[in-house]
Amino acid sequence: MSLIVNRAASSSLRDEIAQVPPVVEVSPHGSSPFLLTCDHYGRLIPPSLHQLGIDDTQARRHIAWDIGIAGVAERISQALDAHLIAQRYSRLVIDCNRPWEAASSIPLLSEATAIPGNEGLSADDKAPRRDLIFTPYHARIAQVLDARHTEGRPTVLVALHSFTPIYAGVARPWHIGALYHRDDRLPKRLLEALRAEGDLVVGDNEPYAVSDDSDYTIPVHGERRGLMHTGIEIRQDLIADPAGEKIWADRLTRILRAIELELHPKVMEG
Ligand SMILES: [Zn+2]
Repeated sequence: MSLIVNRAASSSLRDEIAQVPPVVEVSPHGSSPFLLTCDHYGRLIPPSLHQLGIDDTQARRHIAWDIGIAGVAERISQALDAHLIAQRYSRLVIDCNRPWEAASSIPLLSEATAIPGNEGLSADDKAPRRDLIFTPYHARIAQVLDARHTEGRPTVLVALHSFTPIYAGVARPWHIGALYHRDDRLPKRLLEALRAEGDLVVGDNEPYAVSDDSDYTIPVHGERRGLMHTGIEIRQDLIADPAGEKIWADRLTRILRAIELELHPKVMEG
């Protein structure tokens, strides 16, 4: 009986995700060397998962997605003519910036909120989330990186995120952070540029550092390919409305343009 129920549930999930695919792209033919990713862009939960047993308020909180980053990412993508690849399902369904084998891939608890719809899942229950959301998203990023490599186009990977101003009762002072692990070529330049702005509290690997267990996009697509890369985390209260999104997108567009010129002095000469 439960096998039949599982099959039915898996088939509705398949239909729902087929109608609303996980991958969102902006400026797919963009000429910029920057490739932008946004693992926590959206907070959709397929209807057959019954909102994972949490209420509407919880499903809109930072535990479900990176508040504000979608607007910032889209604006930067358009301003720089940079390809953005983003994922529109909630990280509570499956976290696209975790190895799918990690316990936090389909979290039982996020900050202090239990996620009832993620309890007691078998490998067969988890597999469709991986196969329909995680895998196609990362396969698309890999496909684009392969194509750019084949075409001899340079790629600088920028993974965009946002963080909650208060986590587990502790206020976070940083406005923005640059995140990395084994390769600090781009973060070093970015940190220098952000500090030069003069009005920012800048996090160097804060509020998080990148690691193989807690991250996927940078280790797999950036480090393993030897691409210059950085993570960027912006505090959510600064980008909570379109005005804030625009201010931060404009600022980062200006800074990334300057870094691009520094990396490729010939670009100006056309
Ligand atoms: Zn994120």
